[in-house]
Amino acid sequence: MRYVSTRGEAPAQRFSKILLEGLAPDGGLYVPEEFPRISLAELRSKDYRELAKSILACFMDDIPSLPGIVERTYTKENFQSEEITPLRTLEPGFHILGLSNGPTLAFKDLALQLLGGLFESELQRQDTSLNILGATSGDTGSAAEYAMRGRKNISVFMLSPHGRMSAFQRAQMYALQEANIHNLAVEGTFDDCQDLVKQVNADAPFKERYRIGAVNSINWARIAAQVVYYFKGYFSATADNDQEVSFAVPSGNFGNIYAGYVARCMGLPIRRLILATNENDVLEEFFRSGRYRPRGGAQATSSPSMDISRASNLERYVFELLERDGAALKRLFQKEEFELLVSRQGFAAGRSTHADRIATIRAVHGRYGVTIDPHTADGVKVGLEHREPGVPLVCLETAQPAKFAETIREALGRDPARPAGFEDLERRPQRFEVLPPDAGAVKRIIARCAG
Ligand SMILES: *Cc1c(COP(=O)(O)O)cnc(C)c1O
Repeated sequence: MRYVSTRGEAPAQRFSKILLEGLAPDGGLYVPEEFPRISLAELRSKDYRELAKSILACFMDDIPSLPGIVERTYTKENFQSEEITPLRTLEPGFHILGLSNGPTLAFKDLALQLLGGLFESELQRQDTSLNILGATSGDTGSAAEYAMRGRKNISVFMLSPHGRMSAFQRAQMYALQEANIHNLAVEGTFDDCQDLVKQVNADAPFKERYRIGAVNSINWARIAAQVVYYFKGYFSATADNDQEVSFAVPSGNFGNIYAGYVARCMGLPIRRLILATNENDVLEEFFRSGRYRPRGGAQATSSPSMDISRASNLERYVFELLERDGAALKRLFQKEEFELLVSRQGFAAGRSTHADRIATIRAVHGRYGVTIDPHTADGVKVGLEHREPGVPLVCLETAQPAKFAETIREALGRDPARPAGFEDLERRPQRFEVLPPDAGAVKRIIARCAG
């Protein structure tokens, strides 16, 4: 399997080459030269680890250590159950796929725990080191840091918007004491953080000298890891391989739902991918009308991990809409905004507000006795609006309610249950450095602390 850039001006590469890079040298995102087709009949009976090995082998065919990494990653110890992503049926045809049982209680653990193993193995094989530079609106940062903490030859520099994450999210990241973890709190928004990452990466000599790598959702290994649970969720929700299923996906950077699109390209019978946004509804507008209008900054909401105004992975999907014309894609993304009048078949979209979120958390708790987090609530709200008779609806649970106590209190009048091991989280000592939204400041810290 080789990977090509969405901007069409970078040479095709094998997986082991793109694993440790972020953007392609032409500024595009890597995608597989073609999507592998896969036999559902052979996969249905497999457990999570076997399923992951089969699917990931298509994308990572030059990583000999892959089976061992998968075995060590998707364990009961790491994800609380042998199922890894258990399906909960609220009523016949309406399910929640539990993706948030990993060490940081958000779905990003499913990809990042694997990435940690892949990075360590490849860096060792290539006898080199890496400085990971990332931006987070909350969950990516902690999931990346937990995946990389204490690993050899890896340092993490994680930019987060100062004062815009929940106390729980902040504590999860800032309380890590490992010397290879560096928390940089930027006086700005998540978009500012993402821009800083882009600016540092645009300085090619700096990037090469300090071996800058990425873990944000543009990394193809993360997309590939996420493809696995669409298959698992499909098999759990159906009795045979003819049944179509729709997935509702709380979306921000378009990484999670794009993995669902890839699963469908590989042959999984997904009827609709139902995209849910919060008040930051750039993606909802795009899927409804074809107009893509990223606005200035993202608005802070009570589903903060979706507070994104420019979704980096959308470029991968637009690449397919343009029938893989890299030059046309480049022209499009150089504009402030654009309109694409081609069919966005197989997608539905909707938005959810704070009031919707609260009402949905309340309704699901009242009707089914299940507490869902604010992001999952956005997905459930929009998913139910697009539910069709005879088509099972699988809503992806992207985080545990314990991470967002304030909103749960507002909805249910009490605190969410705390999973074991998290009782004293906010009281642990925190390590972080505040800095202005300035690429020079970020570079100086990397130069000082790089591994
Ligand atoms: C990251 C995240 C999302 C958004 O996922 P994308 O892949 O960026 O679209 C939704 N919910 C939670 C809890 C998240 O952490």
